[in-house]
Amino acid sequence: MKTQYAWRDGSFTPLSKSTVPFLTHSLHYGSGVFEGVRFYNTPQGPAVFRLREHVSRLFLSAKTMGMRIPFSQKAIEQAILELIKKNGLTSGYIRPLVYYGEKMGLHPAGAPLHIAIACWPWGKYLTKETVSVKTSSFMRVHPRTSVMTAKISGNYANSILASLEAHREGYDEALFLDHAGNIAEGPGENIFFVKGKTLFTPSEGAILPGITRNSIMTIAKELGYAVKEQTIKPKDLSKFDEAFFCGTAVEVNG
Ligand code: PMP
Repeated sequence: MKTQYAWRDGSFTPLSKSTVPFLTHSLHYGSGVFEGVRFYNTPQGPAVFRLREHVSRLFLSAKTMGMRIPFSQKAIEQAILELIKKNGLTSGYIRPLVYYGEKMGLHPAGAPLHIAIACWPWGKYLTKETVSVKTSSFMRVHPRTSVMTAKISGNYANSILASLEAHREGYDEALFLDHAGNIAEGPGENIFFVKGKTLFTPSEGAILPGITRNSIMTIAKELGYAVKEQTIKPKDLSKFDEAFFCGTAVEVNG
């Protein structure tokens, strides 16, 4: 990583010293919650894309995991902005993580709570303009086995299994179907399909309702597209003209 500082529990620390003890609860059990946020260079200086919404989702995710973050949302937004400045970056990616510290045993009661933020320059996530996609043999986490609106680290074991499988078989990315066999999302991104002047995207339920997805729906409507959130089956795919993934890390990728 090309940055010098992280922020943790209220102060800036060298990123290289931002380590965790081995018996960290969230390291073993996936109990952390996190965000991925991007910032872009603009004529007015670096600007964070929908910072408030990302920090708000971080707090919702934390609440889901029984965590009370001892800072206000405003204070975390401020810490993110200061961290970007302190690292002298103009564009890149921001990774806030809230995690349970040293404590073994699944129930996290009594575990110390930590919140840390790193940022670094990060180019394209999917390195090709057009990606090949493998429909995963793993189904997306069932909405009743977790909380799909929260970015819980443990949910990503499912994503990693699908990514490993797709890459092992020579594809660039995986695509999940949900428990009902409908198209859900990628391992770390939402999906859209285009037919003429209409955009289609899977309804909420078995997906993380992304902030980028929300932005695209708003912009598309402003541009005169109809946007339909609905059930989409693999057999429907042949009727679409185009498809694209979207998310903070992948941005928009065909
Ligand atoms: N789905 C999953 C599983 C993700 O990890 C992400 C990335 N956060 C998204 C969708 C897209 O969400 P967003 O646009 O808020 O980054």
